[in-house]
Amino acid sequence: MSRHNRFKGKPCAYCGVERVDMTADHVFAKSLFATRKRGGLPIVAACEACNNAKSKLEHYAATVLPMGSGDPAALEVWDERGIERVKKNRIVRDHLKNASTVWVTHSKVLMPRMGIPFEPDQITGLFEFIAKGLVNHHWNAVVPADYFVGAKFAKAGDERPFMDRLVGHAADEVRGVAGDDAVLYQGWRFLDDPWSSFWRARIYGGLTLGQGGRSGDSAPFDINMLVMPRSVDET
Ligand SMILES: [Zn+2]
Repeated sequence: MSRHNRFKGKPCAYCGVERVDMTADHVFAKSLFATRKRGGLPIVAACEACNNAKSKLEHYAATVLPMGSGDPAALEVWDERGIERVKKNRIVRDHLKNASTVWVTHSKVLMPRMGIPFEPDQITGLFEFIAKGLVNHHWNAVVPADYFVGAKFAKAGDERPFMDRLVGHAADEVRGVAGDDAVLYQGWRFLDDPWSSFWRARIYGGLTLGQGGRSGDSAPFDINMLVMPRSVDET
């Protein structure tokens, strides 16, 4: 059975639409990983419209994110196709003209790294898709269209009290890796429904994107994702 058939008749993990011509989508795009590390990536059903919309965000992310880390996993992706992708992406080329050096602590050593101005909405937009994909992959549920799904950059350790409260209510916890250990993620399902959840992902050991112009010890970013009902009925 081909991958395509496997998802025939399944609802789209991202918008819930049910069609016969469903496509298979890698929750974490293959392009984020070096070729030899693409095995065993989570796959969900996606309609063509969602697949195309997500794919645009993935092109941007795969071009920009590997530049935002000195992690070996990021460097391997960059070495394979980095220059080629930058050449094809005018927005990224323009951003690179404004790149500056930032100093970051990596494995306790202060190292120079390129700080690249970038468009955070393109990355958080991608991670809103990814949150829904992970809910679908791990819990076989499709996030309802009226749910709030948000993603944002957070420094490791930020929002700890908030997160601890959520995690204290968690009914279920999952951990996963993608692309060997290029992406590490953790998810907590914390209300009486199969969708409400909090996710945290660390890519390439943590990102330092967008910290151009700053110097000193800057903590890398993780990406937090929240899936919640828009309003909770408190009756
Ligand atoms: Zn869809």
